[in-house]
Amino acid sequence: MSIIRKAEAACSKCGAKNETTIYRSINTADNPELKQKVRDGSLFLWRCSSCGQTNLARYETLYHDPEKKVMIWLLPEGLEVSEAQMQSISLHAKAIGDYTLRRTDDAGSLMEKVLIFDAGLDDIVIEMCKFVTRMELISKAGDKDRAEKISRAAFHFYSVTGEDESAVLTLTYPDPDAGKITGVNIGWNVYEDCMGILSRNPGIRPGDGFQKIDAAWLESRIR
Ligand SMILES: [Zn+2]
Repeated sequence: MSIIRKAEAACSKCGAKNETTIYRSINTADNPELKQKVRDGSLFLWRCSSCGQTNLARYETLYHDPEKKVMIWLLPEGLEVSEAQMQSISLHAKAIGDYTLRRTDDAGSLMEKVLIFDAGLDDIVIEMCKFVTRMELISKAGDKDRAEKISRAAFHFYSVTGEDESAVLTLTYPDPDAGKITGVNIGWNVYEDCMGILSRNPGIRPGDGFQKIDAAWLESRIR
């Protein structure tokens, strides 16, 4: 079941109060249209009725895809979790066995996780692919300044195209020279190599519960 509420939010530009929709919990089996809105990022955007400004909503939500057996808890940074919420979420986690449980602190990361899991990929392997790709780009950077900028850039999974061995993964990152988000393609062999590293080092995998899997997490596991 999805839990959908109305709430009042102030526009970031003009401050006008707007009535907005808040998705406390999203069940993609009951509401497949909400999955699409998470995938394209529109679920968290709302338009101010006074000035037309597009605002990004910030609230806690639990994304549940029973088909993919995935549960992702979006808890924006700085938001407090009540004890009741924490309890209900822990109960969820205990009640379901073979689920992948993830925690993110921004809507963009939730969107990325959904794209990864919908494509049938492993988000830990994707983080490893991002790490390898970052290292590769740094080694080809040419100058120190560019290398430094790439080392701090956020990489995201964008898409996978093609089948089996000829599949190509597209990651995005803010290219310091181009000054905009740029795609970088990697072959399926990179994904397979990372999968191999992970299976030979099962200790990298996280424990139970809602885990935050991102670049910082991976670096803490491989150092
Ligand atoms: Zn406004």
